[in-house]
Amino acid sequence: MSDHSHASPLPEGVDLALTVITLCGMAYVSVSAFLVPLPLAPLALLAVYLAGGVPAASAALRELVHDRVLDVDLLMVIAALAAASVGAALEGAVLLTLFRLSSMLEHRAMGKARRAVQALMSLRPETAFRLSPDGTVTATPVAALVQGDLVIIRPGARIPVDGRIVDGAGSLDESTITGESLPVVKSPGDPVFEATVNLHTVLTMQVLRPMAESTVARMIAMVTEAQAQKAPSERFSEWFGQRYTVAVLAVSTALFGIFLALGQTFDAALYRAATILVAASPCAVVISVPAAILSALSAAARGGVLFKGGAALETLATIRTFAFDKTGTLTTGRAEVTRLLPLATDETTLLTLIAGLEAQSEHPIADALRRAIDQRALTPAPVTGVETHPSEGITGTDATGPVWAGNPRMATHMGADLTDPALATLQDGSETVVYLGRGPLLLGAIAVADQPRATSRDGIAALRATGIASIVMMTGDRRPVALRIGQGLGLKPDEIHADLLPQDKVRLVSDLAAKGPVAFVGDGVNDAAALARADVGIAMGAAGSDVALQAADVALLSENMDRLAAAHRLSRRAAAIIRQNLIFALGAMAVLVTGGLFFDLPLPLAVLGHEGGTVLVVLNGLRLLLDPIRNTRPPTPPVAP
Ligand code: ADP
Ligand code: MG
Repeated sequence: MSDHSHASPLPEGVDLALTVITLCGMAYVSVSAFLVPLPLAPLALLAVYLAGGVPAASAALRELVHDRVLDVDLLMVIAALAAASVGAALEGAVLLTLFRLSSMLEHRAMGKARRAVQALMSLRPETAFRLSPDGTVTATPVAALVQGDLVIIRPGARIPVDGRIVDGAGSLDESTITGESLPVVKSPGDPVFEATVNLHTVLTMQVLRPMAESTVARMIAMVTEAQAQKAPSERFSEWFGQRYTVAVLAVSTALFGIFLALGQTFDAALYRAATILVAASPCAVVISVPAAILSALSAAARGGVLFKGGAALETLATIRTFAFDKTGTLTTGRAEVTRLLPLATDETTLLTLIAGLEAQSEHPIADALRRAIDQRALTPAPVTGVETHPSEGITGTDATGPVWAGNPRMATHMGADLTDPALATLQDGSETVVYLGRGPLLLGAIAVADQPRATSRDGIAALRATGIASIVMMTGDRRPVALRIGQGLGLKPDEIHADLLPQDKVRLVSDLAAKGPVAFVGDGVNDAAALARADVGIAMGAAGSDVALQAADVALLSENMDRLAAAHRLSRRAAAIIRQNLIFALGAMAVLVTGGLFFDLPLPLAVLGHEGGTVLVVLNGLRLLLDPIRNTRPPTPPVAP
């Protein structure tokens, strides 16, 4: 099948021109036939046949020769020719006219769904104001910006490429990327994304990525790729379309013979066989699934939810268990160092040494340390040969020798003793404790606290409300911390799994999969394997994060957990619309075929029913596009202390 049934690969202008020619020709022929005879009516009829039939016929023949598949569109042309050959040329023309018209409508509708995301590209400004080292500002084409360039963003202007704020603070409207309507406040160090709007202040940003690698560019590439992949139900409808097209052709030919044998005239028998050919054509069945999936993928992308394909969309609708990572997923991942406990060293060394170890780390703990160091105007100690141990900690070598930082598991590996009474108060708290040591010598410990996202509780509640009974949290952190966060979010103790290594998360996901499809929601740090193992891997807050975008099947660009429930709802709505479409398309086909077999259904009516049904399923699929993912409710206002 070419693109999809009916969705002719013609350029839109040609598509429109052919449709206009067909419609005008048809009008002319009708006036001549039913009102006043007009000159050159046969020529107009010929125009209808040529403009209506040739493009579909040539495309279908090309496919027959190249791919050895029978396009449904070919059935229409055969039926029209059959009608013409038995003196029903006018009815054949009606067929081709309606066929042409519906082809164009479907083509447009599918194009609209497909391009709904590409429109983001056009939101990027053409020029940016580059700040030279000597302080002058020059207007520069965005395409010429390179990594490291400084750019001035005026109030109301769009961000030209992905970057990081270096000077100024203010709120940005990021709805183009995250679908989030509330402005986000950003300050130096925070990332900003191409095509988002700087609302009120002047910002200076540093270019992080050239235009071609921006988040928007990757979003569009991902959605385009997703649209090209086939969902399981889509494969069904295509498989059905192909088998069925051959079958319809065979059955119609057989019926023609049967009608003849039953004593009908050649003309009547061929006319009826052609009517049944049209009535039984599976165009609506074939297009019903891609129409819904394309629309859903686009609607989701506009809401900041990127599906890697229709398959992920369909699987999400069937999920029985949602498993959440804790750090960076249910929590903000913006941890703060809350307490310092130097034992065999002083506070400053404790901080600078851990910070030195974590200097290159992606873990939220590393972020907390970078901020703590900045606040105290300290610099990280130089540490080399750094190695991360997922869900345990980090090792390296400083001027004195090997050092390590990590959780109790790491400390135990190193033979460190964690029974120092001074540690008790730190361990009793519900913060994450990071120990620092030199071999078995414990140098000290710090406590790091991370807060749940404001939307996590509501997001989990929304999932439960849709009937998801099994929701669990998985973390490499200690159980007391896991319990504090998890119970605060409405999870029961038996739904909270702590002290896990990345491979433990994978095993747990596998265990849960015995009860039905599992979705794993993570941030890509220490949980990429679980994201990959789950039936649907969902990356949270993935704007600008390569790891998460690659490991997951679904990327939530927003950090708003409500998006997850919304994406789940969308997947269920898409599944429902696919079901509706398939039932309607098969039902309409049954009615039309019955009419053709037993009730002398005239050809034009069969055509009207067939093409009308096809357009209807496309429009029904397009409904998903009208209603992009929105927040279920405004975020809960922060509770006053
Ligand atoms: P989660 O599963 O909640 O996302 P992780 O698996 O990322 O948590 O980490 C689990 C624990 O391992 C952390 O709480 C921390 O104690 C320790 N850890 C992991 N990475 C590091 C690191 N880079 N530095 C220090 N400790 C770490
Ligand atoms: Mg994590």
